[in-house]
Amino acid sequence: MTVKAKKYLGQHFLKDEQIANNIADCLTQNGYSTVLEIGPGMGVLTKYLLQKNYTTHVIEIDKESVAYLEEHYPSLASNIISKDFLKIDLASQFNNEQVAIIGNFPYNISSQILFKAIENRAVVPEFAGMFQKEVALRIAEKEGSKVYGIISVLTQAFYDVEYLFTVPPTVFNPPPKVDSGVIRLIRKENFMLPVNEKLFFKVVKTSFNHRRKTLRNSLKPFNLSDDLTKDSIFTKRPEQLSVQEFINLTSKIEKDVV
Ligand code: SAH
Repeated sequence: MTVKAKKYLGQHFLKDEQIANNIADCLTQNGYSTVLEIGPGMGVLTKYLLQKNYTTHVIEIDKESVAYLEEHYPSLASNIISKDFLKIDLASQFNNEQVAIIGNFPYNISSQILFKAIENRAVVPEFAGMFQKEVALRIAEKEGSKVYGIISVLTQAFYDVEYLFTVPPTVFNPPPKVDSGVIRLIRKENFMLPVNEKLFFKVVKTSFNHRRKTLRNSLKPFNLSDDLTKDSIFTKRPEQLSVQEFINLTSKIEKDVV
């Protein structure tokens, strides 16, 4: 018995063993002894994770896939979490232990998976996985590019991102419509911001609400003082700002009193 792919769960099963092995090799194994695979499906990647020196756990929303895994990977049985990754409390699930995340992610929720990891970065030292290529490139992109955006800044504020390799649609069953890309995120040594985090997220999101406008225009909702908006940074557009400049900008906004 195999699992019949369900489109609404973003199921595209990898059928290339070598690529599964290459993805499993993406984790550096530094600084953790527990790994969580999101969306194992029929376990093509899990099989290679189980050969490594860490303890592998998996979380899978599809009951049919869970039954398949229980049957085919008895050694994994006690480490299968039959739940929706987006709904668990990650830190308490793993007793505040460090846990690296990996997966060939369901593309319909891949950004939400990443944002959840970022929120939980205190317990997520590393994150590797497959996204739609376009999304993977956007996450890794630097300032000055058209695809640099909210997800690039919010990820790179806390993680060093590396685009590793591209995977064609032909190696999946059923094949997705687009290329896929594998990236790896390694948490920065200092992953706490020197500014108010909520404000930073708000500044980044508001700035990119209107990519083509200058920050002076986009950030009007913040009601900033004329004194502050005289600063030349406000003549820029969001895609021109590095992560550090967004942090500096947040710091200035934090101190601004109208
Ligand atoms: N890793 C497997 C399957 C990838 S398809 C392979 O490479 O072949 C994506 C998997 O994510 C599917 O098994 C799907 O059931 C699972 N999934 C989808 N939404 C999920 C969620 N919210 N939480 C956990 N798993 C999910």
